[in-house]
Parts: sequence; C-alpha cells; structure tokens
Amino acid sequence: MQLIQFWRNGSPALGLQTPSGIVDAAAEATRRGCTVPEHMEALIALGEAGLRLLGPLAQDPVCLLPAEGVRLAPVVTRPGRILCIGLNYRQHARECDLPLPPAPVLFNKFSNALAAHGEEITLPADYKEYDYEAELVAVMGKPARDVPQERALDYVFGYTCGNDLSTRDLQFARGGQWLLSKTFDGFAPIGPCLVPAGELDPDHLDISSRVNGELRQSSNTSDMIFPLARIIADLSHHFTLLPGDLIFTGTPQGVMQGWPADRKQWLKAGDQVEITIQGIGTLCNTFC
Ligand code: MG
Repeated sequence: MQLIQFWRNGSPALGLQTPSGIVDAAAEATRRGCTVPEHMEALIALGEAGLRLLGPLAQDPVCLLPAEGVRLAPVVTRPGRILCIGLNYRQHARECDLPLPPAPVLFNKFSNALAAHGEEITLPADYKEYDYEAELVAVMGKPARDVPQERALDYVFGYTCGNDLSTRDLQFARGGQWLLSKTFDGFAPIGPCLVPAGELDPDHLDISSRVNGELRQSSNTSDMIFPLARIIADLSHHFTLLPGDLIFTGTPQGVMQGWPADRKQWLKAGDQVEITIQGIGTLCNTFC
C-alpha cells in the first residue's frame, strides 16, 4: 500500500497511490458509506486497524484526484521529532576516512525542514557546498520506551524515502554545526509515499540517488552499521519514541563530500535530485 498526503484547503489529507491514480481517501470512503482518518497522523494513531480501513479503497476506486494541480504534502507533516543517524553505512564511513562509530550517532532536524515530493527547495545564498544524502526514513507507530532489538520493528508504522540535505561548508565550520547545516527550510524532503512497515524488510532494500539523472549513490540498507532495530532499541533506551517521530537512518557512500576535491559538484539552483528505495519509489526534488 502506498499512502500519500496532499494539501486540501491548507490541511493535509490522505490519499492512496494506485495504478489508476491517487485515490482521495475521504471521498472514496464517503462514496462507500464509511469513514477513514483524515490525515496520516490520525491513521498512525489507529495503527493496523486504520490500514485495514484504507486497504479496500484501492480496489476499483472512483474518486481519483485530477492528474494536474494536486500539491502533495510531506507524508508526515507534524512529527514530534526528526531524529537522524550520522555515519551509519560502512562504505560511507570509509569514503569519509572515519572509524566506525561504537554506537548510533544522533543529531536532529526540525519540522520546518520537511518538504514534499516534487517541492522546489531553496538553497540559501550564504553557503555553497550543498550535498544530498539518500536515506531510508522510518515513521514510528507506537510509543517505544526501552524496547529490545528483537521487538523494535513492531513499533514502526511505515517507511519512506528521505534526502538529508546538508551544507558542508557550514557543517564543518564553527566547531561542527551538524544541526544548523542540515535544518534549513525544506532540507528534509520525504516521500513520495509511505509504505506500511509490514510490507518491507528495512534491512535489505536497494537505495540510490541520482543528480540530474546521473547515478551518485547505489547501495543496500544491509550495509548499515546499526540496523534500524538496533537504532530504535538504542534511542528508546534513552527516551520515549512517539508515534509520528521520523528516523533518518543514515546515508550510503557516494555523497559529494566523499568525492575528490577537484571533482566536487555541489548542488546548485536548477538541479534535480532523485532518491529511490526498493519497494517505496522515488522522491524527486528540484532546487532554486
Ligand atoms: Mg544523513
């Protein structure tokens, strides 16, 4: 199931991406004499029961959104937290010439950084070393406090693609500004859809990025140093993870930071970045 959100009168509304197009979940449910949650946040609160309500709407739908003029919203618009894991792929640590960390390295972004699939993102004029980072993003489904690794994935609601956009000339300036360099408005695009957790194995997914069509990153989530279950176990040991929290799980090798100095091509206005993850789809954004 591919769940999306779109903007309707300034509020996020639920949709289903199907081969026929995007189903307007609320309208389709009304047509069938039932009701469904209005937006993703309400759906996450219902958990499996919500997914059982939505699933049938993808069969022979009538209430499809027009092909043009629909503005997608991020698949989650008001997460309590956007948590990010740094340096979590073996080959990425190698390209950065850094030792493997002994435990998940945590930083965060704020919700102002969220952007939707298809959205144009502004690169601030103050800096110039803008980089992409393809990442699997987990959306938490239930409160998780001190959960064991073996049961940690039970607390995930779904998965989406993310781009942990980074400003390298700020990240490594002034003593190391991880947060500030990664949380400009729009610097955490997610999408294009959310796939329910039960449909994917987060430890074995091909993940790639392309810039203007050119392949830059190509890996598999099996190269993660700390698999998602270990990340959730570790974070939830320190604080309670809540429904809707987003976890960016780190990026594989191939980011511009790891390229030789004389060949670096930082992102610039007019560029297009595509993040593709097996079983989810392709998140595409352009820059201005
Ligand atoms: Mg990252």
